[in-house]
Amino acid sequence: MTHAVVKEAWEKVQAELERTIGEQNFHLYLKNTLIVQLNPDIAEIGVPNLTIADFVEDRFANDIMASIERVQGYRPATLKFSINGHLFRRLRERERANRDERPVDPAPEAPRTTPRREPIPRRRLNAQVFNLNPRYRLDNFVVGPSNKLAFNCAVEVATRPGRTYNPMFIYGGCGLGKTHLLQGIANALLQRHENLHTLYVSAEYFVNQYVQALTSNAIEQFRARFRNLDVLIVDDIHFLRGKEKSQEELLHTLAALETQGKQIVLASDLHPKELEEFKQSLQSRFVQGMVAQLNTPQFDTRLALIKSKLGPHRERFPDGVVSFLAEKLDCNIRELEGYLTQLSALAAMTGDKLSLPLVQQALTDFLAHRRRLVELSDIENVVIAHFGVTSEQLHGRVRKRNIAIARQVCMYLARQLTQHSLKEIGRFFGGKNHTTVVFAEQKITSAIEEDPELKATVNRLSRQLNAPETA
Ligand code: ADP
Ligand code: MG
Repeated sequence: MTHAVVKEAWEKVQAELERTIGEQNFHLYLKNTLIVQLNPDIAEIGVPNLTIADFVEDRFANDIMASIERVQGYRPATLKFSINGHLFRRLRERERANRDERPVDPAPEAPRTTPRREPIPRRRLNAQVFNLNPRYRLDNFVVGPSNKLAFNCAVEVATRPGRTYNPMFIYGGCGLGKTHLLQGIANALLQRHENLHTLYVSAEYFVNQYVQALTSNAIEQFRARFRNLDVLIVDDIHFLRGKEKSQEELLHTLAALETQGKQIVLASDLHPKELEEFKQSLQSRFVQGMVAQLNTPQFDTRLALIKSKLGPHRERFPDGVVSFLAEKLDCNIRELEGYLTQLSALAAMTGDKLSLPLVQQALTDFLAHRRRLVELSDIENVVIAHFGVTSEQLHGRVRKRNIAIARQVCMYLARQLTQHSLKEIGRFFGGKNHTTVVFAEQKITSAIEEDPELKATVNRLSRQLNAPETA
């Protein structure tokens, strides 16, 4: 095909897309694109920048493929987005024009300094630092009634470890800031109390290390590592469900640390007493110090969160838009961040401030796609914790009954709570083909009818994922 023919075909596809995704979506996201290649092997679409490429791919890949199929009679094997210099420059010029229309900021420009990196103390350039996300700090944690208690305790622990709240146990649903707080404590300690030996790990890591130590006859080294610490922080404690030996080991680890007055910080998605298949002695230990809950934030906190999360994009979001968002986005914070990212991409695309009607429309659209925001890996995590299987087993081919059921529940939840295709779900859960996923979904759907216990389990897992109940 000559390029003229390709262009003509693309125009037809665009017209089709405008019909299927709606005029407004089309103008915002797909009008400023061009076709690079179009044939049964590949459809390559030029877009202005990477943000837009990711965004359009994420939201409209299926619609694009379907429109091509309707117009051309085939579905290209690959869909690719490439950055087009011309579109890039055009967008930048439009942004610049918009910026010039704004009043000039009278404040003198701040002197330019090269951003200084926080020096990492030499001694800390080891295993303790690598697993911490430097973005998770106490000073950028937004505080409100939903998390105040947990935050204040975290600050206290980071200032005077081992003194007041020991152990400190934080619990709350998915995406409400547990990991942020825990790593915030660790980051603060590593900066302020450089001489203290601080270790942050996930419960899964603890278990894996323990099992590895057992099989390689290195239990002494394992214990030396986890018991000679000043601060031990263990995330996602719910992962230990049903893992008796690991629970036992953790219990002894905590006891050893506590008798030396060392600080322990733990987090889980449920209150210690609600953790099922946990040793009672471990549960009692969890509640001996301070237990603090993280809740879903209310309006004022959401407002503060949004302002803080927008960072440099803030200028594209008028106050009216920000309060509209704070009112509507009554979800967990991870989800809120997801919407803000999408809206920032939208703002980058239009090259202008976002108007309220535009945001209202976009949000209706996002909320319709809401299910997508549960990640397959989140599903995997809760299922692993619940069924007491390992990630390897889940992704493997073993057909043992409890593993097979765990795998099917994963696929079922993925079908109910995400918009991933059968193919993607199959690929994620161990390279199964799509018929396996269809089968799993049917199997669990009918099993739920007959088995109230399974039904309760599936609903509980949905709640843990902060999603509506499915069964
Ligand atoms: P959890 O571990 O409870 O599932 P995370 O700590 O991973 O949740 O938080 C999800 C996202 O929300 C992270 O990007 C985190 O930075 C952000 N977040 C959660 N609570 C706050 C808060 N109070 N202030 C700022 N960011 C927050
Ligand atoms: Mg977490």
